[in-house]
Order: sequence, then structure tokens, then C-alpha cells
Amino acid sequence: MSKVLVVGGGAAGMIAAYKSAADGDEVILLEKNEKLGKKVYITGKGRCNVTNAADMDEVFANIVTNAKFMYSAFSGFDNRAVMELIESAGCPLKIERGNRVFPVSDHSSDILKAFLNLLNKNHVDIRYEHTVTDLVVKDNAFTALKVKDGSGRESVITGDKCIICTGGLSYPLTGSNGDGLRFAESLGLKVTECNPALVPFNTVETWPKSVMGLALNNVELTMADEKKVLYKGFGEMLFTHFGVSGPLVLSASSYYKKRKSDNVNLYIDLKPALDIETLDKRVIKEFDENRNRNFKNAIASLFPSGLIPVMVELSGIDPDKKVNEISKADRRRFTELIKKVPLKILSQRSFSEAIITQGGVSVKEINPSTMESKKIKGLYFAGEVLDVDALTGGFNLQVAWSTGFAAGKKHITEE
Ligand SMILES: Cc1cc2nc3c(=O)[nH]c(=O)nc-3n(C[C@H](O)[C@H](O)[C@H](O)COP(=O)(O)OP(=O)(O)OC[C@H]3O[C@@H](n4cnc5c(N)ncnc54)[C@H](O)[C@@H]3O)c2cc1C
Repeated sequence: MSKVLVVGGGAAGMIAAYKSAADGDEVILLEKNEKLGKKVYITGKGRCNVTNAADMDEVFANIVTNAKFMYSAFSGFDNRAVMELIESAGCPLKIERGNRVFPVSDHSSDILKAFLNLLNKNHVDIRYEHTVTDLVVKDNAFTALKVKDGSGRESVITGDKCIICTGGLSYPLTGSNGDGLRFAESLGLKVTECNPALVPFNTVETWPKSVMGLALNNVELTMADEKKVLYKGFGEMLFTHFGVSGPLVLSASSYYKKRKSDNVNLYIDLKPALDIETLDKRVIKEFDENRNRNFKNAIASLFPSGLIPVMVELSGIDPDKKVNEISKADRRRFTELIKKVPLKILSQRSFSEAIITQGGVSVKEINPSTMESKKIKGLYFAGEVLDVDALTGGFNLQVAWSTGFAAGKKHITEE
């Protein structure tokens, strides 16, 4: 029997500890908070979108960084497997739109209860309010870790295997503030540059503030720098006091790091179902029917009411001009504007608002089947601490479940 030390009781840590114990090892799970899974608790707006039930090709397509690294972990423990495990632990699940999987109760706390059941049943020694401060490595092999408990007492715990599941840098108030990344760096392991992802954008333009709270459905969003299109997607977005947010914007943010310069623009197509000529005919019809009205009063049926003053302003057409006095060229430019409302990205919002960290322990340093460091024997990494990230839809938690399971699993070489 080996002694396994799991650092961090989030998604990856809970499953790694469970799997190690279920495979017969003695397991200590060290969590700095007073409870497990503080981040899991707030996932999916408190409902926990625990995984995605799509077929695995689609799951891979939703991994933004290092999808190939995930092949082995996904084939060892996939979305069906985690669903079975959670249900067997007493938490029934349901599949919603877009194959998103949630607990039937709509309470993330039930996912946490299911994992607590699994941990207790398998006699995992859970130590709350235990912050791991350092790792001890001798002759390129893990030997022990240093811990500070809630009363400030420091101690050293030895072990045969250590699994680092400390998460990334996003939402640091939940406990994940990058400790695992620091441990890796201090041991000479490569950590790739970390950036917030699945995060809103600040825009140069200030007009989004005037329509804050307005959500646009069924629009197409394109993000591009001078050289190429970085992202294109269809769906929903939201204006805020600082710029833009909502599902489309969050997805776009995961591709922001691919930019070749900081001159990156967003373009909103407000009528993606209509090509430019069809839309132009629609605008002509609107103008014909309102020929004697002022421009600002003639376009009500084209947009949500909050957006009308913005569109009038962006068009450069005098709001009080009679529609029958608007030139063909101005009308055409207005049609083009509807298909391509521009916004310049000023910056991404910070880690405190990011759903995921892009970057982390380089997967080149990690064995993809076992999650063991290729340089330090007995040291494993799982979850968001790794340089793997995905889009929204349950895929990030699936990465944590699959890598945590792979790290916890007893491999023949460890017998
Ligand atoms: C608001 C929000 C909503 C989200 N919604 C979803 C969703 O619905 N579906 C989805 O798939 N993904 C979602 N995610 C992403 C998902 O939560 C993460 O991908 C996932 O939690 C990562 O799991 P992890 O175990 O690697 O890290 P975490 O869950 O962050 O767990 C890390 C744990 O390690 C502990 N820890 C850190 N350092 C130490 C230390 N030195 N000593 C001891 N303990 C330590 C922390 O306290 C924490 O408990 C969401 C994220 C956020 C922020």
C-alpha cells in the first residue's frame, strides 16, 4: 500500500483522492479551506454543469489548449464514466440543452455531497484548513510536503506519491491562487504563461455602458486582428458597464491569446440570418413605410429599443433627418453597420472574473496516461493547474475529472 498525498480538494483533488483510495492506497487529502470544492459550489451559477454528454469528438473539439494531451485521460475516464460515478454516489443527473449535464436537484452542493460520500466510504483522511506551503524532493523523487494548519502549526508529511490539484489563478477567493504553479516553478518544471480566459472584455468605446444589461440573442460575433479572424460564433452576448460579456464573448476570449497584435476588434452581426442584400431590401422597405418620419423614429422594428440611439449615433446620420432625404449611400452604409457593429477590445477583465486559467504546468513535462511529472518521480498534477483549458459547457470540469482520475489510478509501475 502506498501513501498518497493529494493537495487541493477541488474537482480534480476529490476524484484523485477517491480513485487512489478505491485502488487500495492510504490517502490524505489536504485542503486549505474549511470545506471541499468551494469553486465547484459556484459552478454553473450554483447548479454545477458537471460535464457534457456529447460524443467524445465534440468534447475534444471544445478543448481549446492541448486537446491531444487529453486523449489518454479521456479514454481512461470519460463523460459517461463520471456521470455513472456521481449517480452511483447518490446524485441523479439530467442532460439539458447543448448536452450540458446538471444534478436533477439543480444544486451543486449535491455533487459535493456525492464526492464526500465517495471519500468517506473509501476512508480518505480529509484535512481541512491545511495549506501546503512547499514540496520536498530528493534525487528527483517526491519525498514529503510542508503544511501549515488552521492554528498556524507547521509540519512535514512524508508520502510515496503527491498529486497537485491546486487549480489555476481564476476566482482566487475560492482558494485557487496559483500555489501549485509556484511549486512547479520552484522545482524547475516549465509553467507556460498564464492568462485569464472565459472572461469578459473591456472595450475602448464607452457606449456599451449606455445599454448595460441589454442581452442580444441570435447574433453572430466575430473577433479579428489585422491579420486574421480569431473567433466567429453564433448565440448570445451582453453589454455591461465596462464593455461586453455573455456566452459568445466568453468563448471569444479563449482565442484572444492567438492575436498577433493588440489591435483586436469585435464585430457584431445583428441580423446573421439575412445576407447583406436581403437586409438592404428590408431596410429599404422600412424606410419606404416611414418615409416622412425622422430617421431616429423610423427604425424601431429593426433593433431592441435600447440599441436605437446607439445605432443612430454610429450611423452618422442626423437623427432628425426625414427618411426620404437619406441618400442611397448612407442607407447602404447603415445596412452594412447592422451586419458589422464594431467594438475595439481594450483589455480582458482580470483573473477574479475569469472562469478558467489559460496556461499552467506544461503538458510536455507530464506523462499523459498517468499525469506524473517526467522529471520528478512520484509527483503528479491534475486539473486546472495543467496547461489545458476548454470552452464552457461542462468541459473544464471533465478535464479535472479525467486528469484527476488518471493521477489517482494505481499504475502497474507503482505496485
Ligand atoms: C464562476 C465559475 C463557474 C464555473 N462553471 C463551470 C461549469 O459549470 N462547468 C465546468 O465544467 N467548469 C466550470 N468552471 C470551471 C471549473 O470550476 C474548474 O475548471 C475546476 O473547478 C477546476 O478544478 P481543480 O480541481 O483543478 O481546481 P479547483 O476547483 O480550483 O480546486 C483547487 C483546490 O485546491 C485548494 N488549494 C489551492 N492551493 C492549496 C494549497 N496550497 N494547499 C491546500 N489546498 C490548496 C483550493 O482551496 C481549491 O479547493 C467554472 C469556474 C468558475 C470560476
